Amino acid sequence: MHAHPSKSGHPASHGAGKNDTLRLVAWETTRNCNLACVHCRAAATNGPYAGELDTDQAFKLLDEIAAVGQPIVILTGGEPLLRDDIFDIAKYGDRLGLRMVMAPNGTLITAAVAQRMAASGIRRISASIDGATKAFHDKFRGVDGAFDAALQGIAHVKAAGIEFQINTTVTKSNLDQIPQILKLAEQLGAVAHHIFLLVPTGRGKYIVDQAIDAQAYEETLNWFYDQREKTSLQLKATCAPHYYRILRQRARAEGKTITFATHGLDAVTRGCLAGTGFCFISHTGIVQPCGYTDVQCGDVTQNTFGDIWRHSPVFLKLRDFKQLEGKCGICEYHAVCGGCRARAFEATGNFMAEEPLCAYQPGKEAAPR
Ligand code: SF4
Ligand code: SF4
Repeated sequence: MHAHPSKSGHPASHGAGKNDTLRLVAWETTRNCNLACVHCRAAATNGPYAGELDTDQAFKLLDEIAAVGQPIVILTGGEPLLRDDIFDIAKYGDRLGLRMVMAPNGTLITAAVAQRMAASGIRRISASIDGATKAFHDKFRGVDGAFDAALQGIAHVKAAGIEFQINTTVTKSNLDQIPQILKLAEQLGAVAHHIFLLVPTGRGKYIVDQAIDAQAYEETLNWFYDQREKTSLQLKATCAPHYYRILRQRARAEGKTITFATHGLDAVTRGCLAGTGFCFISHTGIVQPCGYTDVQCGDVTQNTFGDIWRHSPVFLKLRDFKQLEGKCGICEYHAVCGGCRARAFEATGNFMAEEPLCAYQPGKEAAPR
């Protein structure tokens, strides 16, 4: 299951200029999962996993998150619905004013579960659809029945009045299906379609030859840009940081100015938010820049979340864009893009190294506003 964000956010008022406004937290509430998808970040299986935060620790964590800001909190896993106390957790976060969303795999969402989600204040769920057909999606995820389960789950949450977004992991094998998946998302009544470019960690490592190359990446993101005005869905290229470079290059070529009024949140967000607006918390309470960047920043059972978010040397480094290395370091777009730190880390062992999957050669353009 993805630990990935739905990226709309509520910028908090503090921290301007320090690149530390917490917008989004993905919390792996459990590592237990009833499925074993081929590209799972967590390589989760049917646990139990030792050391999971208990209910009291979960409430304390939410208190500490709310003391830092008002981010969206994504309850992820594993399969979050395998936690008995998941609705208490959702309710607790909701009462603190946090926007609680969930990333379940769909198989456990009955009509009754969807009702409980709505009653506990879950505002949105994400559903993964990686192929336009049942045959393709099931093969892609390596799980028979995953497609039907996703559609079934969607039908129930829709009936319960919860909005949903479609998440698609893009690889070589499903690249040509993205237009049909977008169409399917529209037909299903999704509010958003988020595409994720495969990051080779977890089980995804074994399908690393499925990662698309920098050129195909560039073409996909340009296509994605072209869809913006053709669909009513909120489109988001997630973990494809150079989409924010392409957005600016294309807008400039079209003589447009990027503002909140013309481009919405795309105008104010950044490509990679790891450690600047976003972080991941593991099932045992380890804080990381994101679920794919396996660099430990602290442990919420030892320190408060606020301490870790404000003082972790890893976070402080990620917020200092001048410390980016290689071509990301000299790139005109590094403040709006930043490259994928997980891919850099996976490729080199250095999370500040240059993004390995970018076709852009810095130094050719004036710095974007
Ligand atoms: S490091 Fe990569 S995978 Fe992690 S949030 Fe940034 S773009 Fe996404
Ligand atoms: S060189 Fe790095 S910062 Fe520049 S566009 Fe490519 S990935 Fe982004």
